[in-house]
Formats: sequence, C-alpha cells, structure tokens
Amino acid sequence: MQLCRFNDNRLGLVEGDRVKDVTAALKILPASHYPLPTYDLMIANLPAVRAEVEKLAKDAKVLALADIALLSPVANPGKIVAAPVNYKKHLEEAQTDPALHHQNKVAEIQRVGLFLKATSSLRGASEDIIIRHPDRRTDHEIELVAIIGTKCDRATRENAMSHIAGYCIGLDITVRGPEERSLRKSIDTYSVMGPYMVTADSVKNPDNLSFELTVNGEPRQKANTSDLIIGIADLIVFASAYYTLMPGDLLMTGTPEGVAPIVPGDVIDARIDQLGSMKVKVR
Ligand code: MN
Repeated sequence: MQLCRFNDNRLGLVEGDRVKDVTAALKILPASHYPLPTYDLMIANLPAVRAEVEKLAKDAKVLALADIALLSPVANPGKIVAAPVNYKKHLEEAQTDPALHHQNKVAEIQRVGLFLKATSSLRGASEDIIIRHPDRRTDHEIELVAIIGTKCDRATRENAMSHIAGYCIGLDITVRGPEERSLRKSIDTYSVMGPYMVTADSVKNPDNLSFELTVNGEPRQKANTSDLIIGIADLIVFASAYYTLMPGDLLMTGTPEGVAPIVPGDVIDARIDQLGSMKVKVR
C-alpha cells in the first residue's frame, strides 16, 4: 500500500498517478491529550488505519497525484536518525575532497556511529527547500529512508526488519563545514521525505533498490542500496542498541557518492525503485 499525506493534512491512497482521499480513516486514531505521545500516532496504529483505508477506498474521491501538495508521509516522527558515510565510494570522496571534509577526519561509520537531525527540519516533496545560508556550500544527499513501525529496543539482526512499517525517499540536505553534522543538517526544510510511504509488505528486497538523483536534469547521484556499508537491518540493530526506536521514527540510511551543491532555482528529481519519484524545488 502507498499512503501519502497531502494538502491540509489529508490522507491519500496512491494508486499509480491517482490518489484516493481516505482522510476519514484517521478517525480511528485514539484521542491524545497533553503530554502528547513522543511517537507518530498514525504509524503506531497503521494496521487499523490500513483496514479503514481499504474500507473507504471504493467510494473515495479521486484526485490526480500531480495536482496535490505532498507533505511528509510521517507527520510527527519522534526522531530522525541518520547514517553518515554509509557508502564506500562516498567515504572515499569525503576523505579526499577538502570541500567535503573541512579538515575533519572522516572516519568510517562503524567508528563515528549515527547522528540525529532535528524534526523541525522535516518537509514533504511539495514543500520547497529554502537555502538558509547562501554563503555556505549546501549539498543534496539522496537516501533510502526506513520508517519504524513498532517500538524497538535493542533489536537483533533476526527481528530488525520486522520493526519497519514502510519506506520512502529522503533528502538529507547538508551545509558543508567544520560544525557537527546535527547542526549542519538540521536547518528548517533540510529533511525532505516523500513522495509517499510504501508499506514494507509492498517493497521487495529493500537491500537491492536502485536510485538516482538529478538536478535540473543533470545526473548527480546513482547507486543501489546493495552498496550500503551497514545494511538496513544492522542499522536498526546499531541505533536501537543506544536508544529505543518508536513508531514513526525515520531512519536515513546514508548517501552514495556524487554529492554536490544546490542553489536557489534548482529542481531536484529524486527516485528510488518501487518508491516512486519526487521533484523538489530549491529556493
Ligand atoms: Mn546523509
């Protein structure tokens, strides 16, 4: 199943280039009161939401995917967990190019571990990236994102994948420089998720997905998730060894070689096999 969030927080069932408005499925979510949960309510209740979506689909209003404004498929992730330098060729380019490493020693992911991006940086495919520091080099990074579905504390390699609700495309927009990654990558609009969530049962072999990113039609990044240094299951084991993953947490799995600058006016086209494609404007 492919689920999008669109326009004024509506929920859509994506079928090809059409979207069925199944917003009423969200009525089954439990009422929440202060303090609000630190996880995403829709993802935490996804099996029940899906059952409602299936009931509503046959009579739902149909829209064109091209006509709606896509929001992040997860509204309220508690955390955005991200993997640095998780493709070998990106590690090599980061270690050799001073414009990328800025005299920081770029160590392999097994040594540096993971980092967190502020959830306030989250945007959807139709919400533009707004360059905040035009004087600084700002790069695109395309990444496969795993959306955590169930609470996950110290996962094992055997059960890790069972905690995934679905997948989407992520853009980890990055200011280059000497500061900590969490600062340079947490700027408002610098975590773009989309175009929609594809539920895990609909994705065949997430460890072998081709993907590519172009800017204004020019090829920049092209790789396959089979090139990941630490694969998806082991990233979940790694992350949950330190903190409990919760429904809706977003796991950005890392970017391959080919990172390069973006400037206002650019249009990024990002696509991953089985997960669709999205065009994102830079302002
Ligand atoms: Mn990244």
